[in-house]
Amino acid sequence: MAKLIIPCPKCNSHTTDLYRERGFSTKGFPFDAVFHCMCCGHRLYGQAAVKLAENVVTAQEQAAAEKAAAVEQAKKEAAARAVAQARAQEAAAKAARVKAAKKTSSSPPVAAPVEGAPLKLCAWHRCTKGPDGTRMVARPNSKYCSRDCSNKNARWRYTQREAEA
Ligand SMILES: [Zn+2]
Ligand SMILES: [Zn+2]
Repeated sequence: MAKLIIPCPKCNSHTTDLYRERGFSTKGFPFDAVFHCMCCGHRLYGQAAVKLAENVVTAQEQAAAEKAAAVEQAKKEAAARAVAQARAQEAAAKAARVKAAKKTSSSPPVAAPVEGAPLKLCAWHRCTKGPDGTRMVARPNSKYCSRDCSNKNARWRYTQREAEA
């Protein structure tokens, strides 16, 4: 982690220092803490200096946590959109197949309208990596959303074969 920069509460300068006063053996932490602003000369001692540093750390942690939560939320939303799109495409394809099957051979089957690159759901039927704990969208050039699902599917097929034998 980078060195903690504590903005001066007086002039807001970042050229500040937080250190422990030396040579005062009677003082222990946090009473030997000193905050010093090189810009305006503002100083804080002891617990006031520690408190200032703590507030800065807390604010930084909060900002980092909020940022991480926002990134996580955006990822979830993107995944949810992709899964919804893939489901809609699967449903449309199924509807088209049903429609085509019902029609007489004289009329050609109508293909389902597909916008952009077709999205597929993970081929592992017990996939739980989707945003709501159901199937996730498969990766491009793969039947699965992840190596994990590919492995699980392979294992499952192996056990199915074993059961049949
Ligand atoms: Zn200052
Ligand atoms: Zn999967």
